[in-house]
Amino acid sequence: MDTDAPEWMRGVTRIAVLTGAGISTDSGIPDYRGPQGIWTKDPSLADLFTYDTFVADAGVRRRLWSSYRELYRTEVAPNAAHAALAELEHGGKAVRVLTQNVDGLHQKAGSSERKVLELHGSLATVTCLSCGERSPTSNVLERGGEEPACSCGGILKPSVVMFGQFLDEDVLGRAGAVARASQLFLAIGSSLMVEPAAGLCAEAVRHGATLVIVNRDPTPYDDLATEVIREPIGTAVPRICAALLHG
Ligand code: ZN
Repeated sequence: MDTDAPEWMRGVTRIAVLTGAGISTDSGIPDYRGPQGIWTKDPSLADLFTYDTFVADAGVRRRLWSSYRELYRTEVAPNAAHAALAELEHGGKAVRVLTQNVDGLHQKAGSSERKVLELHGSLATVTCLSCGERSPTSNVLERGGEEPACSCGGILKPSVVMFGQFLDEDVLGRAGAVARASQLFLAIGSSLMVEPAAGLCAEAVRHGATLVIVNRDPTPYDDLATEVIREPIGTAVPRICAALLHG
């Protein structure tokens, strides 16, 4: 370990990484509630992602599907921060990613599917509300039509956690276990203001992990962190990962 490397990096092998919208803005994905955010620019889009309205109103579902091509953009590429986290895993560290994002960019960058927990689901698949079958969003969009339906006739819903829905218990349970087992809990690009992100930070620290936060703005957990890094994510994360691997 290089002598300039901070103390908290020493001997770390089990790393939990929590990521929020901030890690994907360099890939051109707007956040949700920032000035250029998806919900800020078009508040009616948030209504489309409200579970009760989605289920009850066919008009809402048609509007959701007509805006879906803009939300689910398959051409979006992961950036240097996603790539650095994938390299950290393949370089031999036990890395688990807990992401609040639904963009699939960690997996695209090379993080193993089974090492990534998507806390809020994924835009890449749809789930039938009647038979529970999951299918790739791209297949559904290719079929066209105003409102795609399952072969069983059921309503297809994007596999993301909508407003008014609970998070998946199994995913939450596994995320808690990852947080408790980590030596280093790295929170990147998340405001840490919504659950379960906030709770996972606290859980990790309670079980002895070092908390390091990389975020442009202050978070409610800054006081609990060993280090808070304000440097842009695109340079900070590759630098931290390289130091953890080669330092
Ligand atoms: Zn079905």
